[in-house]
Amino acid sequence: MTTATGARLDARIPSGPLPQKWDRRKFEMKLVNPANKRKYHVLVVGSGLAGASAAASLAELGYGVDCFCYQDSARRAHSIAAQGGINAAKNYQNDGDSVQRLFYDTLKGGDFRAREANVYRLAQVSAAIIDQCVAQGVPFAREYGGTLANRSFGGAQVSRTFYARGQTGQQLLIGAYQALSRQIGLGKVHMHERTEMLDLVVVDGRARGIVTRDLVSGAIKTWVGDAVVLATGGYGNIYFLSTNAVGCNVTATFRAWKKGAFFGNPCFTQIHPTCIPVHGEHQSKLTLMSESLRNDGRIWVPKQKRDQRPPSQIPENERDYYLERKYPSFGNLSPRDIASRAAKQACDEGHGVGESGLGVYLDFAEAIQRLGRNVIEQRYGNLFQMYEHITGEDPYKVPMRIYPAVHYTMGGLWVDYHLMSTIPGLFVLGEANFSDHGANRLGASALMQGLADGYFVIPYTIGDYLASTKLDKVSGDHAEFRQSAAAVRDGIAKLLAVRGKRTVMSFHRQLGRLMWDHCGMARNDAGLKKALQEIPAIRDEFWRNVNVLGDGESLNQALERAGRVADFLEFGELMCRDALERRESCGGHFRAEFQTPDGEAQRDDANFTHVSAWEYAGPDAAPVLHKEPLVFEEVQPSRRSYK
Ligand SMILES: Cc1cc2nc3c(=O)[nH]c(=O)nc-3n(C[C@H](O)[C@H](O)[C@H](O)COP(=O)(O)OP(=O)(O)OC[C@H]3O[C@@H](n4cnc5c(N)ncnc54)[C@H](O)[C@@H]3O)c2cc1C
Repeated sequence: MTTATGARLDARIPSGPLPQKWDRRKFEMKLVNPANKRKYHVLVVGSGLAGASAAASLAELGYGVDCFCYQDSARRAHSIAAQGGINAAKNYQNDGDSVQRLFYDTLKGGDFRAREANVYRLAQVSAAIIDQCVAQGVPFAREYGGTLANRSFGGAQVSRTFYARGQTGQQLLIGAYQALSRQIGLGKVHMHERTEMLDLVVVDGRARGIVTRDLVSGAIKTWVGDAVVLATGGYGNIYFLSTNAVGCNVTATFRAWKKGAFFGNPCFTQIHPTCIPVHGEHQSKLTLMSESLRNDGRIWVPKQKRDQRPPSQIPENERDYYLERKYPSFGNLSPRDIASRAAKQACDEGHGVGESGLGVYLDFAEAIQRLGRNVIEQRYGNLFQMYEHITGEDPYKVPMRIYPAVHYTMGGLWVDYHLMSTIPGLFVLGEANFSDHGANRLGASALMQGLADGYFVIPYTIGDYLASTKLDKVSGDHAEFRQSAAAVRDGIAKLLAVRGKRTVMSFHRQLGRLMWDHCGMARNDAGLKKALQEIPAIRDEFWRNVNVLGDGESLNQALERAGRVADFLEFGELMCRDALERRESCGGHFRAEFQTPDGEAQRDDANFTHVSAWEYAGPDAAPVLHKEPLVFEEVQPSRRSYK
């Protein structure tokens, strides 16, 4: 399919049987001679698990790499927050796992809105990720006999999740960071911390560079490369309150969108069922309680509406363990979208607990009685401590109170099987791409995908691109670079010139509330249309009335935030538009009009078995929707049931 701008929406899925596609493609792909690799230069934006693994692997292969992140250390990327674990089809438990089962669980978990071939490859390379990380010294939890331990996560009936207590992301990132540091030491990677990419530069239709701002000095710089890799994470912070690190934003991918990269499924947002409930107007961040807790914790609400009794005084027969009741096969380990909606439904019906009524119990009493406090402490000690620290309640004694919150974005820049966007030479990895997770990501699969992309996919596919593309020499003086840098400078000056009365945060909070109300856990036609009317009005006021103090020539966090919120204020419209257009319910996208009589998501396979890929059409034009049909050869989409 050729699009308005001439970009091709070709997923480049290899032919042949599913299990052989990746091997076949690896063999078909062109290689760059080892001696020639050093002649190529790759710009990697992002140093989370996806970016760090990519930068280290590419440098290890011999390419020259510049890597950028906005934190003060690559090690502070949001990936460090990941708690629960990383999936892999190792079948160490001998409980029936396999590549096929991980593939199937992921596809079904995503409500059949992901690309079969990508998901299969992800399951295939998952095992290699664990080997790679163990070789790096990642201290995964082990059984008494020394073998790696596994636990269960939502949406699966096998135990395939590898973990390092509740700090899996941190340990994996330290592993990737070591690999990256080695290459920094060897001079193959130049690391640029506190440097924010503010534009993508496209020359002759190919991604050839970026424009950055030094967040300390304010200097605007251009960088030339033979290819650009974006591994810039997700955009859940558009909702203001989310479990994401406060800095997570959409700027890099959104600005690449404006340069011609299509955005895939922007409305697919994951709401995580187990977060500490919102507790005040002034809160700016939500805290996740890892899904791993659902292995032993039981979720319940009082059967009686608005029951004010403390949990200990509510007898067993007056409790509704609603997940166990509604989904007996998966129970408390039902997938996130399903568990989140069930919690919302219980609270909407008046069974919620806590002051706001927006909470359900996650109770460990039975597990502590069965296994002993020691075992629970070993498994989840740091998570329990964190909960107590934040709420002042001891979860060994009283049940945790949890409520769903925004956690992950399945949408992202559209990529083909090679992880290349619609702009040749622009590759997108990790949470930043529209991903292999369809309409709902299963727990512990984001780390798997980020590392699969960085360690095992991009090293092959970028080589094929470089080996098969004739790239003219380009310098930073090229008109495209100069224009992009000038546009970035103008944008900053414009933000600083407003000098209005409202803080950036107040606009962000207002937008977030609107997005949560109308494009959050449940969406409907009227609400989305309302949001589409209100967002331009908020944006309009933002550009008249935002107050960004300070200047652009020094460290100015208000300015950084303002730029990110300005992008959210445009991007929110794209999300709502996408949600409005997708007149079905699937995974994390629950359109209230489309549900089964028992309140489950009702897909419309006849009309929506596709990826929605949105093309930017200019500042005053509506974005153009393209559709990549999803073809299922191996698995026939069925009604997703966890009963
Ligand atoms: C609390 C929490 C717990 C989680 N637990 C798990 C778990 O147990 N298992 C699991 O599989 N997943 C988990 N996830 C999801 C998972 O952590 C993320 O999806 C994943 O880490 C994203 O990795 P990434 O490399 O794609 O992006 P990130 O780790 O977000 O890294 C993004 C990088 O891009 C850089 N960047 C962004 N924009 C720019 C820019 N404009 N210029 C320069 N640099 C830029 C940042 O500085 C950073 O280095 C969790 C998520 C949260 C919020």
